[in-house]
Amino acid sequence: RKGNVIITGASSGLGLATAKALADTGKWHIVMACRNFLKAERAAKSVGIDRENYTVMHLDLASFDSIRQFVDTFQHSDRPLDALVCNAAVYLPTAKDPSYTAEGFELSVGTNHLGHFLLSRLLLDDLKKSDYPSKRLIIVGLHHSEIGIICSRNTNTLAGNVPPKANLGDLRGLAGGLNGLNSSPMIDGGEFDGAKAYKDSKVCNMLTMQEFHRRYREETGITFASLYPGCIATTGLFREHIPLFRLLFPPFQKYITKGYVSEEEAGKRLAQVVSDPNLIKSGVYWSWNKNSSSFENQLSEEASDPEKARKVWEVSEKLVGLA
Ligand code: NDP
Repeated sequence: RKGNVIITGASSGLGLATAKALADTGKWHIVMACRNFLKAERAAKSVGIDRENYTVMHLDLASFDSIRQFVDTFQHSDRPLDALVCNAAVYLPTAKDPSYTAEGFELSVGTNHLGHFLLSRLLLDDLKKSDYPSKRLIIVGLHHSEIGIICSRNTNTLAGNVPPKANLGDLRGLAGGLNGLNSSPMIDGGEFDGAKAYKDSKVCNMLTMQEFHRRYREETGITFASLYPGCIATTGLFREHIPLFRLLFPPFQKYITKGYVSEEEAGKRLAQVVSDPNLIKSGVYWSWNKNSSSFENQLSEEASDPEKARKVWEVSEKLVGLA
């Protein structure tokens, strides 16, 4: 049978390119989990994904009700779940003030981390039940130098070393609910900074992947992995950036840092992590060399600190109402 994969944020950029790459193999049915139904349908058509190879299901990661509704709808579809790709993200680098999810969490961490945390916890049993040869939960990460990955064979520090750096501190803001009222909207309790909130959310993504691996690898046989697909300077992720940045960033990445990859190439990389029989190792963070061969990258102290991962897991569990 075909594999069934849920991809969040498949309506543009990396998610769409991955949906296309997997659909083109003829071996996958893609559930495009998107907040804008019409946009997702149009996107699927625009890249030529065959009608029989995809289903659009509504999912707004900035609302726990919507996430629960999505899980319910998926479970009633009677499709087995063989792979889940947590790809959607918001990035608000120029926002002066924080925005919030339906439950009142700062939007970047609320969507990118808490939304995906709840979604993947609710779908874990479905993945576990799948009889597919290799079932996987993939969480899209960030550039190694942004989150401080020490070892990298294709170091691209120019692209990554742009401040502010991610830093979760002692998690006081997260523990306080990230609501900007009686707690800071930032995980470390600091002043709001949209670019940092995004990077922090991505560190949480990496920590969550590793904690899933520690807690559930043996019991479930699921492969938990993360990746940095390369800098895809053309996606909508940069839509909130100032116009000059949007104009200069793609050529900067292409000619100066040489960290640039096309959406198509990045989609192929993520599709590989979902389906390549060689990439079944769990608990790892994949990166690619310039010649497009994959390798296991290592994470920095903060992004691989098991104690921090456990704390982020426990606090997040409370915030999403699972503990
Ligand atoms: P895009 O902005 O093109 O795609 C983001 C997707 O997330 C869109 O489909 C968007 O939906 C969706 N989304 C945003 N908020 C929500 C929500 N509340 N509920 C459901 N879906 C939502 O960016 P990219 O393709 O670049 O980003 C994809 C992933 O790649 C992210 O995890 C990002 O962190 C990661 N990444 C990107 C890099 C890059 O260079 N671009 C580098 C490293 C990692 P909609 O279409 O409705 O807006």
